Amino acid sequence: MNQDQNKIPRATAKRLPLYYRFLQNLSASGKKRVSSAELSEAVKVDSATIRRDFSYFGALGKKGYGYNVQSLLAFFRKTLDQDEVTNVALIGVGNLGTAFLQYNFLKNNNTKIAMAFDVDPKKIGTTIGGVQIFDMNEMQQKIRAEGIIAVILTVPVQVAQTITDELMETNIKGILNFTPARLNVPPAIRVHHIDLAVELQSLVYFLKNYPEEE
Ligand code: ATP
Repeated sequence: MNQDQNKIPRATAKRLPLYYRFLQNLSASGKKRVSSAELSEAVKVDSATIRRDFSYFGALGKKGYGYNVQSLLAFFRKTLDQDEVTNVALIGVGNLGTAFLQYNFLKNNNTKIAMAFDVDPKKIGTTIGGVQIFDMNEMQQKIRAEGIIAVILTVPVQVAQTITDELMETNIKGILNFTPARLNVPPAIRVHHIDLAVELQSLVYFLKNYPEEE
């Protein structure tokens, strides 16, 4: 991780990939500069927050000019360590796991699923989206050997904690948890929890209850 990142608040750091992706698109379409208002409209973050976020990155914005797309991109690349591909592992090659294996994460950022694990003998030894699926028995050894620091968890909820406990014996630092389980982990491990059912339910709730709000 970059040294400068220590100074960036967590909430800001979480928005970095969002900004980064949008700026890549801007750059690809040939845009040289962008205003905080344009960014705000595109990434749905209010422009005051954007200006505050960007102030942590140094004096990159100029009044009446906006932000220089290339210098922002250079900053994000450095901060997000995007110059180097980060390999992650996926555990649980069901419907959701399979979709992730087939999705090309490299299109938008430099993370790649390097290996997958499952208990199903029909899946073990096969390859999906160019990713090999290994037996769970080999999980700890392979994750350690490859220096993997993050995993995507797409297993049934009942086995999520047991697998997490096994992961604690590797060098894993982060888990992207797609199961509804609230995982118990030591403070050194970061868990990002994405419950698609809850997200969808919450979206529908807002649509029904706050239909007029921006
Ligand atoms: P499918 O139709 O392939 O069963 P699904 O997403 O509905 O997909 P789930 O029951 O959620 O299936 O299981 C997801 C995947 O996790 C399956 O491929 C299953 O074999 C795998 N799995 C189940 N138990 C474990 C475990 N203990 N360790 C690793 N993978 C597991």
